[in-house]
Amino acid sequence: MLRGGRHHRATRKDSVTIREAHTAPLCVGCHLSTSEGYAAMGRRALSLGATTFAFFTRNPRGGNAKALDADDVLALRALLYDNGFGKLVAHAPYTMNLCSAKPETVDFARRAMAGDLERMESLPGNYYNFHPGSHVKQGADRGIELICAGLDEALEQGQSTTVLLETMAGKGSEVGRTFEELARIIDGVHHDELLGVCLDTCHVWDGGYDVAGDLEGVLAEFDRVIGLDRLKALHLNDSKNPCGAHKDRHEKLGQGHIGLAAFERIVNDARLRDLPMILETPNELEGYRNEIALLRSFAGEGPDCG
Ligand code: FE
Ligand code: FE
Ligand code: ZN
Repeated sequence: MLRGGRHHRATRKDSVTIREAHTAPLCVGCHLSTSEGYAAMGRRALSLGATTFAFFTRNPRGGNAKALDADDVLALRALLYDNGFGKLVAHAPYTMNLCSAKPETVDFARRAMAGDLERMESLPGNYYNFHPGSHVKQGADRGIELICAGLDEALEQGQSTTVLLETMAGKGSEVGRTFEELARIIDGVHHDELLGVCLDTCHVWDGGYDVAGDLEGVLAEFDRVIGLDRLKALHLNDSKNPCGAHKDRHEKLGQGHIGLAAFERIVNDARLRDLPMILETPNELEGYRNEIALLRSFAGEGPDCG
């Protein structure tokens, strides 16, 4: 492929880069607990065969953030670098609702996000994923307006973290069930270059997008409405419910309504295979180890790869 302004050598180097990217191990992992510290979390990920992982930036159901231990964070950074980890996908607390009807809840959400993003700079260049919010009877328009205002306040030009809007199942008054709502949020934020999307397979399925029967159609729709360049990470979960149920109950891979074939297609899709993939299935560590190995086997990787 010819690209304007590039000399011959750069073009040859590009093609090598593309080939290497295509054979790189999957960047796959699961949600892990921070309770034993950051470096311990990295060691746990390694022991599971993971090359990325997710963690809560603070108490998911409360709101407090433990002070970071600088040495512990540096030890994790060294481990990630030494072992070729991909980008991590940190998760904001569930209590964070940027579009609540209660001003004090909105205020907490804005301060929590700004605080989390400041802390994330100690692990530079990773992702911070959050649930856009629930508009609680105010309507999606007002919800989107509040989410945009909150992001405008929390996002800081020059930050190294990309903030990801998670696709939602549409339970209750959740904003972000449709790609259109996510696109409206992105369009309404001043520093939209700091935003991306994390696609949760259980959530989009429950939201009515048939990722099992028509992955091609769902990706085409995502590309048309949001643009695939915004898709930065995946949450790989099966679902306990049929497509369109608006429930949000995760299931182990292959034991729900989405089914294993869909996950095999996802890890082999050239548009998806290089994205960080996070399991949030109802599993203990051993179950995660098995699912990580299963996904790697789908991608043609040996058990020791990654
Ligand atoms: Fe989530
Ligand atoms: Fe998720
Ligand atoms: Zn969920």
